[in-house]
Amino acid sequence: MVKRNINIARLRAGYLFPEIARLRREFAELHPDAKIISMGVGNTTEPIMPHIAEGLIEGARRLKYAETYSGYADEGLAELRERISGVYYKNMFGINEIFISDGSKCDIGRLQIMFGSEVKIAVQDPSYPVYVDGSVIAGAAGREKSECETGDCDTSAGYSGIKYLPCTPENKYFPDLSKIENNSIIYFCSPNNPTGAVASKHQLAALVAAALRTGSIIVYDAAYSEYIRDAALPKTIYEIPDAEKCAIEVNSFSKSAGFTGVRLGWSVVPAELRFAEGESVNSDWSRVSATIFNGASNIAQYGGLAALDTEGQNEIREMTGFYLENARLIREALKTLKINCIGGDNSPYIWAHFPGRDSWDVFAELLEKYHIVTTPGSGFGPAGESFIRFSAFGHRAAVKEACMRLISRK
Ligand code: PLP
Repeated sequence: MVKRNINIARLRAGYLFPEIARLRREFAELHPDAKIISMGVGNTTEPIMPHIAEGLIEGARRLKYAETYSGYADEGLAELRERISGVYYKNMFGINEIFISDGSKCDIGRLQIMFGSEVKIAVQDPSYPVYVDGSVIAGAAGREKSECETGDCDTSAGYSGIKYLPCTPENKYFPDLSKIENNSIIYFCSPNNPTGAVASKHQLAALVAAALRTGSIIVYDAAYSEYIRDAALPKTIYEIPDAEKCAIEVNSFSKSAGFTGVRLGWSVVPAELRFAEGESVNSDWSRVSATIFNGASNIAQYGGLAALDTEGQNEIREMTGFYLENARLIREALKTLKINCIGGDNSPYIWAHFPGRDSWDVFAELLEKYHIVTTPGSGFGPAGESFIRFSAFGHRAAVKEACMRLISRK
């Protein structure tokens, strides 16, 4: 018999969202009349806007004719890579530094394969589960004390091999960077999922300085950058000088253009970025990508092109504005209940504090009392205990109904 991959066996819990879906299903079976409203997952709900949708249709149409048909797109349409560099990075990067993907989660998984099992990890705590779980699957984290000869298998704060950097009300959701160990992969997400906190330029400059000082590489997840409305807040790590020497950025059209089901994203891997041996990270990334990825859908890429022209950019602003208005309504409802929360102003997530309570108990109470599905903060890491994440992805009527329930069934 084939032996199970020990790294998978090391995963301590099921993936958070299927677990929540299971609890929701069980509740629905017991209460068939309950009108459950989901404020739990980060899945978009609104239709793709007309101009961007036309781009997708054009992409599909081109496949119908010999003159315009295309097959594998490998690292992506050159025009799309150029446009991404122009729209998001002031043409700071050449097309060989921009890699088109089928989404940022998929790229994070491939980056974890590239970094391998011998790296140290640092993550914001709480954080998007893929940084930690993917690192465990890649073998870079999660060894138990019994498997560890070197004695560095401290599992007290979570998985071994991972430095959890707590982001709490006490530090205004920005971690103590002095805890980052030398030669780490640092996962950093801003606007943050789940807390909704957005790092300032000053804070990102400190992060870049810490990465350079410790010989670390930042994997900067900017999946929610289009939700930033405050012009003083950085939308990309590359607004910080020297970030191209220590950071990879992942991003996607999922949360901005509603491409969660279309699948299109990109990664920036600067030519300047090097491993300890002096080897180019960009070359290794090209090698890994070419080996285990065959390129994003060419239909999706035409949608991406449309999303990046003036009309598409306006639609993205409208779409993200819609979810931000949902977030405002949720924040207002929580304020009425005198529940402390952050986020929702430059991000689609609201992070609500229930001091002294167990996150899963609060989750169960919200489901039972209000028939609202949320996400328990502890599912995002140890520092998420006593918090609940409310997601602003939802139809307006459902969000209003959920807010009304919260306020009226106090
Ligand atoms: N990064 C963060 C922080 C996310 O919250 C998500 C999705 O919820 C992703 C990446 C994945 O996005 P994509 O659809 O591009 O794979």
